[in-house]
Amino acid sequence: MDLKLSGKGVVITGGTKGIGKAIGEEFLREGARVAVFSRNPRRVEEFLEEMGGRYGRDRVFGRALDVSQEEAVEAFAREAAEQFGGIQVWVNNAGVAINKPFLEFTPEDWSYINEINLGGVWRCSRAAARQMMGQEGGVIINISSYAALIPHAGGAIYAATKAGVSSLTKTLAAELAPYNIRVVGIIPGMIETDIARENIGKYKENYVREISMKRLGRPEDLAKPAVFLASPAAGYITGTDIEITGGKYAVQNSDWAWEVKDSK
Ligand code: NAP
Repeated sequence: MDLKLSGKGVVITGGTKGIGKAIGEEFLREGARVAVFSRNPRRVEEFLEEMGGRYGRDRVFGRALDVSQEEAVEAFAREAAEQFGGIQVWVNNAGVAINKPFLEFTPEDWSYINEINLGGVWRCSRAAARQMMGQEGGVIINISSYAALIPHAGGAIYAATKAGVSSLTKTLAAELAPYNIRVVGIIPGMIETDIARENIGKYKENYVREISMKRLGRPEDLAKPAVFLASPAAGYITGTDIEITGGKYAVQNSDWAWEVKDSK
């Protein structure tokens, strides 16, 4: 299927590793041009070198910056739009997690996680919408979390920010629909990346048990669905979260189905 993304301008926040990087590479495979930013300049350079070498240096663009910096984000959006002749897709992917008992979180923890996970989606969506409203439209994809549906103990602030992200997806979808801009959320299950490593830790078996497909996710599991959601093929999807979880909590007893199969 031609997803009609060739030559399109795509921005991915936190696109230098993990889920964001996998999504970025999939857009490059589809012929799009991809701009990424994250805080660590070395990671940005590595991304540009690796992806530029594989798909062409003129098809990638990047800078070190933080989603908490409003003016820098606005400037990046303008720069990426100039480089690519517009931004058709913006993926709000950057996120951080800290796990602690809720009484031990400091006011600094609260501000840090909020300003990146929720504030980042807020200010980046505004920067993206300002660019897209002057074009024929566009698509904003917000990476939420299963924690928005069922939080985890130790992740009080993280889960609250992700519930906020899922809420923003709905409001922004309504407000931007008149401008032909779709806003879609993705709820990843437990995906093996740095951010999830601490959570997975010694509880891997527990997490796998609740997943129908009996495996954790990989960043690549999100890449093709994200690209599809950004394409005209998904043109009637907006204001909702799509779960990509391998069937996490689809039922309360997914082991049962595997036991039945094994007993045959
Ligand atoms: P990851 O491997 O830790 O990648 C996070 C990315 O975000 C990195 O590129 C990081 O780069 C960037 N980043 C963090 N803070 C930033 C900031 N303030 N400004 C700009 N970039 C920033 O984690 P991941 O698993 O790929 O996570 C991607 C998204 O998926 C996050 O929103 C996460 O909450 C969500 N998610 C993940 C899972 C999972 O199981 N892995 C599940 C549900 C949801 P720098 O350090 O260079 O800034």
